[in-house]
Amino acid sequence: MARYTEAKCRICRREATKNFLKGDRCYTDKCAFERRPYPPGQHGRRRKKASDYELQLREKQKVRRMYGLLEKQFHRYFKQADAQKGATGTNLLRLLEMRLDNVVYRMGFANSRDQARQLVRHGHFLLNGNKVDIPSIQLRSGDTISIQEDSRKIPAIAEAREVLARRGCPDWLQVESEQFAGEVKAVPQREDITYPVNEHLIVELYSK
Ligand code: SF4
Repeated sequence: MARYTEAKCRICRREATKNFLKGDRCYTDKCAFERRPYPPGQHGRRRKKASDYELQLREKQKVRRMYGLLEKQFHRYFKQADAQKGATGTNLLRLLEMRLDNVVYRMGFANSRDQARQLVRHGHFLLNGNKVDIPSIQLRSGDTISIQEDSRKIPAIAEAREVLARRGCPDWLQVESEQFAGEVKAVPQREDITYPVNEHLIVELYSK
């Protein structure tokens, strides 16, 4: 499947926010956004007033790239969110957060969502005790995730568990790091999603 394969730090600089796409490096002073907090490219430092459309587009691109989704997939999530009861923007964020690869990342079993997606695809995780290899599965409250016995020594997983303390785990998840397992305690509410996002801009963009 087509994926964005260019330098990930360019995404953060383009969207003017830290998207934490490179694991441990994002928490060090090597972070490219910390060092060069302006858009990439020859004219990156030039300021110009963004139109409403540009603001909406940039916000959508920021969130889409943060979760590593293609436009078609992201738009499908939006339509699903729009069909649900409640605020569409919140529904959208909730659907994205409840993806299996995101939960694996949030639980500290992978250093980035990209890595989580790959580890899930390779079948290293169990969902409610059953082997799973589909990163987009929507989890529900009460679901449990664990790492297969044979996969616990994988360096990427061991490294990610060390970084979890620095990154922190959201309140809606519970992690038993020593047991290589975790549980979805509850469906995340809007206040649980703490990264900076104006979801109403995404709703406005798609509602045109
Ligand atoms: Fe973004 Fe910084 Fe991580 Fe690069 S190192 S992906 S700029 S947060």
